[in-house]
Amino acid sequence: MSELVSETAVEQALLGLQVGQQQSCDWCCECGRELHSGTQVTAYAYKPADEPRWEVLRVYCQACTHTEIETPTLGTAEVLVSACLALTQLAARQTTRLVLSDVELHTHSALTDGTSP
Ligand SMILES: [Zn+2]
Repeated sequence: MSELVSETAVEQALLGLQVGQQQSCDWCCECGRELHSGTQVTAYAYKPADEPRWEVLRVYCQACTHTEIETPTLGTAEVLVSACLALTQLAARQTTRLVLSDVELHTHSALTDGTSP
């Protein structure tokens, strides 16, 4: 396990994190199914050692759920979480974004785990 993070800190950090580039839906990166607000998903997020923010790289529908980080990368913190997708309004711009809510940590890989990229 890890010296890196507490579960709660990771869940807090991922809460409200933007998913995908589209405004109102994203796609399961395995089967291509559309994922809308209110959908339960599994998300893979990562944070390089020198970056302050997490980034959601992939989301999976429930049928394609992953439970393990298969190839951990050294120097990068990686997590798999279950979450519910939600729409949030960006106050500054007249637009909405798909974000993670109800984040629950499944598994994580610390900065010191894995092999060099
Ligand atoms: Zn899928």
